[in-house]
Amino acid sequence: MEAITTAGTFFDGISARPQPVTLRLTFRLEILGEDVSRDWSLLDLRASEAAPPLMRINHAQGPESVEFADAPFAQALTARCPDLNRTEGGGGLTRLVLWSIAAGVSVLLTAIYGVPAASGLLAPLVPQAVESQLGRSVDGQIVTLLGDPPLCNEAAARAVLDRLTARLAEGMTLPTTPQVSVRRHSVANALALPGGRVILLSDIIAKARNGDELAGILAHEFGHVAARDPMRSVITAGGTSFLLSLVLGDLTGSTVLVTVGQAAISAGYSRDAERAADAYAVAAVKRAGGDGAALAAILERITDADDEKPDAVSFLRSHPFTAERAARIRSLAGEKPAGPGILSEAEWASLQGICPKPAKPEKRKPADGETTTPTEKL
Ligand SMILES: [Zn+2]
Repeated sequence: MEAITTAGTFFDGISARPQPVTLRLTFRLEILGEDVSRDWSLLDLRASEAAPPLMRINHAQGPESVEFADAPFAQALTARCPDLNRTEGGGGLTRLVLWSIAAGVSVLLTAIYGVPAASGLLAPLVPQAVESQLGRSVDGQIVTLLGDPPLCNEAAARAVLDRLTARLAEGMTLPTTPQVSVRRHSVANALALPGGRVILLSDIIAKARNGDELAGILAHEFGHVAARDPMRSVITAGGTSFLLSLVLGDLTGSTVLVTVGQAAISAGYSRDAERAADAYAVAAVKRAGGDGAALAAILERITDADDEKPDAVSFLRSHPFTAERAARIRSLAGEKPAGPGILSEAEWASLQGICPKPAKPEKRKPADGETTTPTEKL
């Protein structure tokens, strides 16, 4: 291969000192100067922005670079370096650009086919960092809508809950480790939010008769997390304005979040999403050594209790817990395993005390616009 040479300047990327060098291009690029001797593979060369005829070449694996102003040399180099203008794969910028394009396409799809279709395509594309930031915002929004119920974090109970979460998540496919928080609230409910957040309202713990029942509820929410249903539902709720705010990077847009928070606790998932979360729950509970059918038992109990209170916004109004759903859960669960279940008696007793009794029990007055009876998200 014919060698071409030119004069150039070498930068070590550490000191600002330019070093005059001779560049020799063959099937490699040799850089020779008074204190410099480099022999770079052409595969490692990356062009960086410079005004022609100046050309600046960086080494892909380090801070070093060379500059020269020689059009024929630049032409020959460009012809011999396949990756000269490649941007590094996995770079934050590339991902961000791709993400923006995906979001833009989804906005178009939304306009053409409606939001539900687009949200299904978009949810898996939302970067985990964005989803986690969104989850934090939605969490705060929902807690406000529920009237700021106190966080329940009694230490020993918390430790049991964390172990239960880890056991249920072990070996199951999840985009992120679920973060479970417990809030004191008189409605038996559980909600999955974007970013793997799960909120348990304390009454669901009170309604559970054993560890396997609570495990079933938790695992059902993890099933929604695994399918990224919360992200889908938030996108659907926020609609086009939400998508646009994502593209524009305005996640703090409070008007959007109010809509999203409200919708996230009042809207339910599709029947298929519920079935999938049930199946996931049964698999996770069985894998952890519990009785998969316990989920059907607690859901039936809650449904019956709700029927006796026709005034209350029914727990399962948006997603009736049908006999068909219960039968499916039981048939997936199969025989009840021998043994004590996922939690020992002592662990279950401890977990039930996660919300220490308040010093002075009093009826709290709902704040303006507060949702006192969140509808079901199970
Ligand atoms: Zn559900």
